[in-house]
Amino acid sequence: MSVLDAFSLKGKKAFVTGGAKGIGRSAAIAFAEAGADVAIVDTDLDSAKDTVRELDRMSVRSLAVRADVTDPADVDRMMAEILGAFGTVDIAFNNAGICINEKAEEMSFKSWKKVIDVNLTGVFLTARAAGRVMIAKRSGSIINTASMSGHIVNVPQPQCAYNASKAGVIMLTKSLAVEWAPYGVRVNSISPGYIGTKMTLSATQWIPTWESLTPVKRMGLPEELVAALVYLAGSGAGFTTGSDIVIDGAFTCV
Ligand code: NAD
Repeated sequence: MSVLDAFSLKGKKAFVTGGAKGIGRSAAIAFAEAGADVAIVDTDLDSAKDTVRELDRMSVRSLAVRADVTDPADVDRMMAEILGAFGTVDIAFNNAGICINEKAEEMSFKSWKKVIDVNLTGVFLTARAAGRVMIAKRSGSIINTASMSGHIVNVPQPQCAYNASKAGVIMLTKSLAVEWAPYGVRVNSISPGYIGTKMTLSATQWIPTWESLTPVKRMGLPEELVAALVYLAGSGAGFTTGSDIVIDGAFTCV
């Protein structure tokens, strides 16, 4: 296999949750550039359609699907819609996520549950839906968005539910990798550091601290994650499963 073949996703069928904006949107564009048909799954259908319009400029098929990853019925409907359009799924990027910054002692049960539901349960539900299709055909690549927050505790902002959810995503990824290895289904995660998206750029009061704590002294761009995602999705990563790729400008090294 040539190295270009290793990164080719030609003819593959992918979905990206949280694909309307930020990291998911950049990933969807990269998967399409590598040749995959891509379904954009998001609660924000209008923005998902904007991503689809971007993909329409490439010679791949794309589709916007409105679904809330915390709702099992929605996830079933999402998968039926994707299978109806594409016939199968080869690549699942389970990426939708939210952060709520509340001190642990003041955090409401509702806030705790919302973060865990979207970031951890949502990844389980969409991975399970993709896994069922991939197990049946004995191949597939599932990639989950964890975070450096699954490895370290961010400061100065309080975000215990987020950190716990992302540590959960890393262990869920490893668990699925082991369970599904016999079926040829690979499961990996990425752990980004601070990346400039709606999630982070709105927190202007913390950005100088985040940048000063990052050895490269800046935040990353969503585009700086996508080569790793295309690698994990493609056949060049055939022996890569159960891995977590940390992409954080060396934040977690110090
Ligand atoms: P973003 O807010 O720009 O995009 C998140 C997308 O997820 C949005 O389009 C939103 O509508 C969608 N979404 C939210 N809840 C959903 C739900 N229940 N069902 C379906 N879609 C839903 O954020 P982002 O920075 O691109 O984050 C993407 C992922 O990367 C998240 O899991 C986040 O935790 C993770 N992450 C982000 C950073 C960062 O610094 N930005 C760092 C590490 C990890």
